Amino acid sequence: MQNLKGIGASAGIAIAKSYRLEEPELKIEKREVADKEAEKLRLDDALQTSKAELEKIKEHANRELGADKADIFAAHLLVLSDPELIKPIKDKIEQEATNAEFALKETADMFVSMFEAMDNEYMRERAADIRDVTKRVIAHLLGVQIPNPSLISEEVIIIAEDLTPSDTAQLNRQYVKGFTTNIGGRTSHSAIMARSMEIPAVVGTKQATSSIENGVTVIVDGIDGDVIIDPSEEVIARYKAKQENYEVQKTEWAKLVNEPTVSKDGHHVELAANIGTPEDVKGVLENGGEGVGLYRTEFLYMGRDQLPTEEEQFQSYKAVLERMEGKPVVVRTLDIGGDKELPYLNLPKEMNPFLGFRAIRLCLEEQEIFRTQLRALLKASPYGNLKIMFPMIATLQEFREAKAVLLEEKEKLTSAGVQVSDKIEIGIMVEIPSTAVLADQFAKEVDFFSIGTNDLIQYTMAADRMNERVSYLYQPYNPAILRLITLVIEAAHKEGKWAGMCGEMAGDSIAIPILLGLGLDEFSMSATSILPARTQIKGLSKEEAQSFKETILSMSTTEEVVSFVKETFSIN
Ligand code: PEP
Ligand code: MG
Repeated sequence: MQNLKGIGASAGIAIAKSYRLEEPELKIEKREVADKEAEKLRLDDALQTSKAELEKIKEHANRELGADKADIFAAHLLVLSDPELIKPIKDKIEQEATNAEFALKETADMFVSMFEAMDNEYMRERAADIRDVTKRVIAHLLGVQIPNPSLISEEVIIIAEDLTPSDTAQLNRQYVKGFTTNIGGRTSHSAIMARSMEIPAVVGTKQATSSIENGVTVIVDGIDGDVIIDPSEEVIARYKAKQENYEVQKTEWAKLVNEPTVSKDGHHVELAANIGTPEDVKGVLENGGEGVGLYRTEFLYMGRDQLPTEEEQFQSYKAVLERMEGKPVVVRTLDIGGDKELPYLNLPKEMNPFLGFRAIRLCLEEQEIFRTQLRALLKASPYGNLKIMFPMIATLQEFREAKAVLLEEKEKLTSAGVQVSDKIEIGIMVEIPSTAVLADQFAKEVDFFSIGTNDLIQYTMAADRMNERVSYLYQPYNPAILRLITLVIEAAHKEGKWAGMCGEMAGDSIAIPILLGLGLDEFSMSATSILPARTQIKGLSKEEAQSFKETILSMSTTEEVVSFVKETFSIN
């Protein structure tokens, strides 16, 4: 038995066998072969096995994830049957008497570089297909196993260095009971996805992949951030009891599902949820969300090999608005970059992706992408209570430009006779310190603010939110952060606007009394945090919380704030 300590990224306890999700190393050496025909047969065999595997993955994707995801694998199958690719490989084996994996790699690399150099989006996508699919065939030729998370058919706990958001989106909730990774923090996007999928997760263990073999029993305790490898019967029994207690607590929280969020002294605040896909709305309603405070639309663009069309986007936005039945839905426009990559955009690699060409910066330059999304949103607006917000706004000029593009698209649609709601509020995420400092100026022009503390903290403290070695600097309760938040809330209220928060801090039990006292209007969090937050707020007096505002803001360290809040509000 061994214990690993990490960061509890998604609450709950999971006990199951481990499943290592890692890309195997494919070492290819050139060998001379004596029997060229046998080598060609070996290639045919590997092609057949890969095709059979891809057929299975395609069927699974079609059933579980929809036709668009399945199309990716259909494209891969086409590559494997393409004589233009297969013939040159066999010719190479014949002419150079070389081994199949080497001939395949050389030929595929040649096509990949040729297609990648073309000034044609479609051909560049084919290059990605060839790269992906030949990896599978080479693995078979080398007798190495490639993990296929979408083919998992028994209960497992995923062990990985890291999970990309699109890996996470492809996990099958029925079988994947939990996961643990070496890197990442509470606000990395795989952690955020785990919460919206309600899968217990512990991230940032540093050594999950070096300590956990395939197929051993593992306990993931996402409440306290513990991972127990190969536990004894006694430990399993203890964790089963903890799991049951957690379920009992959830039943208690569930009693508040249809209640408004009102403090002990009668003040209402809105508790909303953060979502990534229309499917997440179910969890929002089951957990009593009063709205969607952040719809991260970038997940619509991920795990695929081309941009979603206007129609596809329209259907997703409409679905969310309809399912929320008139409750507010704040949709954030594309926030790609940082740890959320879109390989098919072929953007150059950057030294500092979190500080780079991302989010609104990319949208203002690649305007076709931006305008397509805005049109889809505008067309969906009559189906519910839509609010639009722009991510990563650093200057007023960016906001003005983004808003102008939005209004231009709106005007075009209305002149063409398309129905568009005239009540759409337009706001911004406050996640860059310059914007927080200048909130008084922004407040004159925006309809609302939503404070994105995940990034605001990383930029204010200069601490990468993905890097567990600097996670000690990730300090939501640092007075510097609290003062920035105060600037934003006060500026909004002065102009008669509302201020929300959609960073993870909004659902944190130590932050909640502080934020209530600072006058935050809307708290948007993972759906599973809503009922515990409502329970907590019902027990708090807003006026009392307000009376501590100056005391807290004049403190000098995180530790001082935490111990004061814990003691004053009896939080353990
Ligand atoms: C944030 O930065 O706080 C936020 C909510 O956005 P994201 O986590 O998607 O960067
Ligand atoms: Mg952000």
